[in-house]
Amino acid sequence: FIQGLERLRYEPAQTLDGFRVNLLTNTGLLADATPGLERGAEGVGLYRSEIPFMVHQSFPTEEEQFRIYQKVLAAYAPLPVSMRTLDIGGDKQLPYFEMSEQNPYLGWRGIRFTLDNTQLLITQIRAMLRADVGNDNLQLLVPMVSRVDEMSSFRSHVEKAVADLSKEGIKVRLPRIGMMIEVPSAMLLLPKLAPWVDFVSIGSNDLTQYLLAVDRNNPRVSALFDHLHPAVLNALAQIYTQCSRLNLPVSVCGEMASDPVAVLVLLALGYNSISLSAYNIPRIKLLIRSVNREDLEPLLIQAMDCIHEEEIRALFRPLVEKAL
Ligand code: PEP
Ligand code: MG
Repeated sequence: FIQGLERLRYEPAQTLDGFRVNLLTNTGLLADATPGLERGAEGVGLYRSEIPFMVHQSFPTEEEQFRIYQKVLAAYAPLPVSMRTLDIGGDKQLPYFEMSEQNPYLGWRGIRFTLDNTQLLITQIRAMLRADVGNDNLQLLVPMVSRVDEMSSFRSHVEKAVADLSKEGIKVRLPRIGMMIEVPSAMLLLPKLAPWVDFVSIGSNDLTQYLLAVDRNNPRVSALFDHLHPAVLNALAQIYTQCSRLNLPVSVCGEMASDPVAVLVLLALGYNSISLSAYNIPRIKLLIRSVNREDLEPLLIQAMDCIHEEEIRALFRPLVEKAL
């Protein structure tokens, strides 16, 4: 990793004026556990469980999944690990499961797909719950939520799996259950979703894509895809306010958590938890440790009035350049 930043591993991610940020990591590969730990990640904010499914030749069995999840949970215990249930569809395809749709990003994705294939969902939940035994650090995270009944159904599947496993003699915990905010409807329904969730994780990649109607992987419109578009900034401000009011812990796990300018914007908005690729942790920690949160507040007030993402970037960039 970046020369000299190893020493930051044991230092807290805290601004000069004492605003403490929880720095978590995104992962999905077993091989990724070590880089996160070596760089001082305080847990896994997003474990993309589709990755082990993508490298398999067929749907992994409960036993196969159990063994993978157990290694990840054990590597991080007692630090928390948010395991996201299978998020296929859109750009994430399985080589052994044909899905062809006209509009895959608006189609059978994430929780929609797994609630239509409950055996798959139940198998995965059981494997995760079993892997948590002795580690006690599992949190479940639900992708692509767009309706309240998705979270209520998901919760009942988890409760049933906990009961079934106890009947089988395996004493599992009921983990905390979180939802991703990636679809604008989830953001607008936050007060109605709150009774069903223990925490929120913002997937800024999909949230940007769906707020702006810009395909996140289409090079023709990539200039329009920006997680600092004023509408996204506005959405992030609203989500933060709502979550504070509802007492819901919230974290950001999309690519914006690796973008230094965006990280300063998130701190200014009040976010104190982000999850990012292990390789970006040292740089982002150095940045956080180099700024005063107090200096960000007047910049945010100006940013909220901007009509172009470049103006927003220009406001925060000098601080990044000074720090990195
Ligand atoms: C996101 O959408 O921002 C996210 C973190 O999920 P993924 O990138 O896996 O879709
Ligand atoms: Mg996503």
